[in-house]
Amino acid sequence: MSASSASSKPSVAIIGGGIAGLSCAAELQRLGKYNPTVFDTGRIRPGGRCSSRFTKDEPKDKGRNRDSILSRYTIDHAAQIITLPRNGFEDFKKQVKIWSGEGGNEQSDIILKKYPRGSVVEIVSGDFDRNKKKGDEKQQKKEKSTPTIRSVNSQYMYYSPKGIGSIPLAIANENNLKIEQDVWISPSNGVKYIGSKDSNYPQWSVQTNGKRFGNFDMVIVAHNGKCADRLMSRTPAKDLHSLLQVNFSPYVPQWGGKKMTLNSIYSLTVAIKSQDGQNLSDVVGKDVMVGFVKNEPDLRLVTNQGKKIQDNSLDHDVEIWTIFSSAKFAKKYKGPQENLPNERVEEVTKLMLEGLERSLGLQEGRIHQGLILDSKLQLWGAAVPLNVWNPSGDLNESNSGFLFDGQHGVGTCGDWLLDPSIPGAYESGRRLARYMSSSWDKEDIGLPSLGGEFRQSRAASGAGIGNVR
Ligand SMILES: Cc1cc2nc3c(=O)[nH]c(=O)nc-3n(C[C@H](O)[C@H](O)[C@H](O)COP(=O)(O)OP(=O)(O)OC[C@H]3O[C@@H](n4cnc5c(N)ncnc54)[C@H](O)[C@@H]3O)c2cc1C
Repeated sequence: MSASSASSKPSVAIIGGGIAGLSCAAELQRLGKYNPTVFDTGRIRPGGRCSSRFTKDEPKDKGRNRDSILSRYTIDHAAQIITLPRNGFEDFKKQVKIWSGEGGNEQSDIILKKYPRGSVVEIVSGDFDRNKKKGDEKQQKKEKSTPTIRSVNSQYMYYSPKGIGSIPLAIANENNLKIEQDVWISPSNGVKYIGSKDSNYPQWSVQTNGKRFGNFDMVIVAHNGKCADRLMSRTPAKDLHSLLQVNFSPYVPQWGGKKMTLNSIYSLTVAIKSQDGQNLSDVVGKDVMVGFVKNEPDLRLVTNQGKKIQDNSLDHDVEIWTIFSSAKFAKKYKGPQENLPNERVEEVTKLMLEGLERSLGLQEGRIHQGLILDSKLQLWGAAVPLNVWNPSGDLNESNSGFLFDGQHGVGTCGDWLLDPSIPGAYESGRRLARYMSSSWDKEDIGLPSLGGEFRQSRAASGAGIGNVR
C-alpha cells in the first residue's frame, strides 16, 4: 500500500529528524500540500546534533548506572548557543522571538533565553599563541599562566534553560509531526527507487530491518555523512548523490575544497567536586555559562551546565561542565564512535582535563581523578561541516540552501547546504519545503550539474561554535 493512499496528499519520507528534517516537515505540513513522515535514529526523541540528555533518560549502554550522578542532570552534549544571523533568516528570528517570549509574544513555555551579559566569555592569553610555529606547540603546552577571561558580546546569543533538546521537541509537538522514532533507515537497502507506477509521482519504498513503511511519493535526505552517501549511492539520483559524498578532516582549503568536509569533535562532560572550596567557576567566573577556549590547541569550548540549565539544582560542592575538543585533537584520538574502547575513553578524558588545566592556568594534576565524580565522553564523528554548497547564479531564499531532483522526486536539506548551525539547518529545511510546495512541476535545483562549488563555512573561518578547527 502506498503511504500516500491514506491521504489524498502526496507522501514524503524525511530521513533524519534533526532541525533540518523537522523544520522541513513542519513547513510542508503548514503549507498543506504534502503528508510528511519523519524517520529518525534518535533512541528517545528527535534532534540530532541539537539535542540534550535529559534527566533520567535511560542510558544507551546498559551497563551504565541509571542513577549515576550525571543522569540527574540535563546536559547539552552538542549545540550550546543559538546565534541570530545578522542578515536574513527572518522566519527563524520570528520563531526565536516566540520561543523566548520576546516582543510581546505570549508564550507560556519559554524555551529560549538570551545569554545574560557577561555569561559568554573568551578564555585568552596565558602565553599560548596559536600562530607560533608547529614545533613550539609542545613547549607551549608545558607553559602555565593565568588566562585572561574577557566577555563576549552575547546580545544575539540564546540558550535553552530547559536544554537545547527542547527546540526539536517544540517543533515536533507544536506541529504535531508524524515521527517514526528509533528507526535507522539502512544505507544499503533502506530506500529503493521504484519509479512512477500507480501515481503521477516518482515512488520510493522505505523500509528498515524487518519493517516496511510502504511507498512514498518523495524522499528527503535530511542528514549527512557516510550514511547519507551510502543511502543514495544505489539510486538513480546520481547528480544529487555526488554531493553527498563526504570527506572527514579538521581543515578545508581556503577555496572550499571539492567535497563536503566534516570535522570530528569530542564532547566530555564531568561532574566535578570542589577542592578547598574552589571549583572551576571560581576560575572562569561565577556568572559564566560558556567560554570559548582560545589559549589551548586541544580544546575549543567549555560550558557550565549547572549554571545554564534551570532544573540542574546542584549540590553546592559539585559543578557539571561540558568541554569540547578541537577537531585536530579529535582526529588524532579518533575511535569507533558508537563503541569507544575504555582505554581510549580514559586516555582522551585525561588529555582533555590536562588541556583544561593548561587553559585555566591550573597546576598540573589540579583536576585529579579524585575530584571527578562522574564523566561521559562522546565522539561526534561527523560534527560540523567545514564547507557549504553554493550553487551558481543569483542566490536567494527560494533557490538556495537545499537540493531537489525533480525527475526522481528526491531532495536534501541540512546545515551543510547553508550554514553549519541550528539557524542554518532550520532555514534549509524550511526553504526546501517552500520550494516543494510552490508548484507541482518541480525543476531540478542546486544540483552540481547546474554549476556551483563548495565554499569554506563560517565554522572553518573562525566563527561558528568558536573556531572549531
Ligand atoms: C559538538 C557540536 C557543537 C555544536 N555547537 C553548535 C552551537 O553552539 N550552535 C549552533 O548553532 N550549532 C552548533 N552545532 C551545529 C548544529 O548542531 C548543527 O548545524 C545542526 O543541529 C544540524 O542539523 P541537521 O538537521 O542538519 O542535522 P542533524 O542534527 O545531524 O540531523 C540528522 C538526523 O538524522 C538522523 N539520521 C541519520 N541517518 C539516519 C538514517 N539512516 N535513518 C534515520 N535517521 C537518520 C540522525 O540521527 C539525526 O537525528 C554543533 C554541532 C556539534 C556536533
